[in-house]
Amino acid sequence: DVGNQLADKQVHSVCPYCGVGCQLTYHVKDNSILFVEGRNGPANHNRLCVKGRYGFDYVTHRQRLTKPLIRRSDAPKHIEMDMDYNNPLRDFREASWEEALEFATKGLKKIHKKQGPNGLAGFGSAKGSNEEAYLFQKLIRTAFNTNNVDHCTRLCHASSVAALLQMIGSGAVSNPVADVADAEVIVLIGSNPTSNHPVAATFFKNAARDGKTLIVMDPRKTDIARYADHVLQFNPDTDVAMLNAIMHAIIQLDLVDHNFIEQRTEGYTTLKKHLQDYTPERMAPICGIPAETLYEVARIYASAKGSMIFWGMGVSQHIHGTDNARCLINLALITGQIGRPGCGLHPLRGQNNVQGASDVGLIPMVYPDYQRVDNAEIRKKFEALWQTTLDPNPGLTVVEIMHAIHDGNIQGMYIMGENPAMSDPNLNHARTALASLKHLVVQDIFMTETAHYADVILPASAFPEKTGTFTNTDRRVQMGRQAIDSPGEARQDLDILLAMAKGLGLQWNYTGPRDVFNEMRQVMPSIAGITWERLEAESAVTYPCSHEGDSGESVIFQEQFPRAGGKAALIPAAFSHADELPDDDYPYILITGRQLEHWHTGAMTRRASVLNSLEPEAVAMVHPDLLEQIGLHAGESIRIRSRRGEVVTGTRSDRGLNPGQIFLPFCYYEAAANMLTNDALDPDGKIPEFKFCAIKIEQA
Ligand code: SF4
Repeated sequence: DVGNQLADKQVHSVCPYCGVGCQLTYHVKDNSILFVEGRNGPANHNRLCVKGRYGFDYVTHRQRLTKPLIRRSDAPKHIEMDMDYNNPLRDFREASWEEALEFATKGLKKIHKKQGPNGLAGFGSAKGSNEEAYLFQKLIRTAFNTNNVDHCTRLCHASSVAALLQMIGSGAVSNPVADVADAEVIVLIGSNPTSNHPVAATFFKNAARDGKTLIVMDPRKTDIARYADHVLQFNPDTDVAMLNAIMHAIIQLDLVDHNFIEQRTEGYTTLKKHLQDYTPERMAPICGIPAETLYEVARIYASAKGSMIFWGMGVSQHIHGTDNARCLINLALITGQIGRPGCGLHPLRGQNNVQGASDVGLIPMVYPDYQRVDNAEIRKKFEALWQTTLDPNPGLTVVEIMHAIHDGNIQGMYIMGENPAMSDPNLNHARTALASLKHLVVQDIFMTETAHYADVILPASAFPEKTGTFTNTDRRVQMGRQAIDSPGEARQDLDILLAMAKGLGLQWNYTGPRDVFNEMRQVMPSIAGITWERLEAESAVTYPCSHEGDSGESVIFQEQFPRAGGKAALIPAAFSHADELPDDDYPYILITGRQLEHWHTGAMTRRASVLNSLEPEAVAMVHPDLLEQIGLHAGESIRIRSRRGEVVTGTRSDRGLNPGQIFLPFCYYEAAANMLTNDALDPDGKIPEFKFCAIKIEQA
């Protein structure tokens, strides 16, 4: 109440962090956010987690970039960075916007002329709005003339999307999180929602309280397991073995949905044959789950009136991530657990706009709405609309771009809001690549680890400083509204994109995000019916929404799947191990992930005072027996080495892990987990294996 009296205005927006997409209200006075409250949005029902509620004062942090910066000619790009955040001007000098934009575009044009279109690449961001992501991919495709454009979806659910597109023709979720109210059984696999999707976790917990059966499958026993009826703590990287065994049991017990298989799928005979060898008895020693538990879970999942599967990056971030997802899709299809309220498939999306950034084409192989760049008819359509000639070949993905830089094939990049110098696997390799670029343009709000390698830095806007649309994990397009102005000379990202486009020779006449959104509606059938005015009035509309007045479909695939013939494809997946297994030299397994209080590479949350006070230091989670084995007490420091790098970090005792595994959050620059991770890729999704590599440890 005191806050309400002090604030001069309330601005309704959405949370800038995770894909749950909680709606919130900024309470603002004198261009400053006083506090944040949850709103009664469809995904949050007034709730917010600690990040949404307290993680807002990063916007006024003293390290905000407020002027364009150009690298001093005598400042080398160090591969091992001195993270002197307080002195960004050591290697850079301040510049006017005019000079910085000219420098930025001139450098890119020079490489384009000398090296050709594929000498350039761009990383956009899932933290930006749909309009920013759409314009960014359009700029890369029409000004650079290449499809070398990607973003962090590659590091997140690219494998899930590959499997979903292949098997059911759509890369998004089939049902929203709130559908758990209509489910009987909820399966959570490879997901730690209490930390990563905290408000969604409250829906799961409430469902469990209301008598729904909650089944948790994860190599690490996290908080949500306390609410579960069944906890399957399976061995890391054995998802395919476990899930195939569950499907084998379902077939053996004749719990498949014969009608659904007959009418809605193809490939069952091949899948059934493939599953013959995956008996629960044979798979039990591999996955570490007793055969009787596999039979029991198979019976519960298949016999329920409605079973929903939610999965996170424990499924997707493997070299067999696409196969992991294929198994989950097969499971839902053979039991008919899809196409109705209270069942279905839901890959929990990570960033607040990773669904939207993917939808609008921030992906090297597809234009907006997943329309393939190598389909001549589709390409012609986009060429007519964008009035240019487009590259007919799919571009390179995130890690492939780093390899192409090492090979000298890519020499210039434009990176908007992404931080690959922290988020990419095998950081020594990624940082060496960034340091060797001839010209790197970075657009961001802080001197991120990636900005340290830039030739020019364009100071951008933080989330509450701009208006745009964001699409949450439920396929819900929501309006984020500007609450405050940017500091100093920092500009809105959309304005910077327009200025960059002009400097690169494009004739764009957008007057703001509404114009961009209207163009998106023309090329994206999924959102054709959503108007800007409706979003302003209602704040959220779910796609597919084909025509104005369409209420939008929250549950899809009710009649058919969006594939030729309308049927889903059952695709068998064979069990294989991780790329780098423990051995005598590196005997332990590293699992990386997030913490409740911090977000991804920590650029925002480590500068949010409450969040950083709660979790100020790098810490690895280690089983107490393993700590004892190496002569340490919890809290003392540990050195972790892999074949690619090493870090020193504090420790915390965690009985949720098996003694052979260590969990390390990836948000701490001083103990960057990705120094250790393996950049081996899933062949379909091109996602790296963040969830498994071999390490050794010692006292530090
Ligand atoms: Fe924000 Fe996600 Fe927390 Fe909701 S659950 S407040 S969207 S971080």
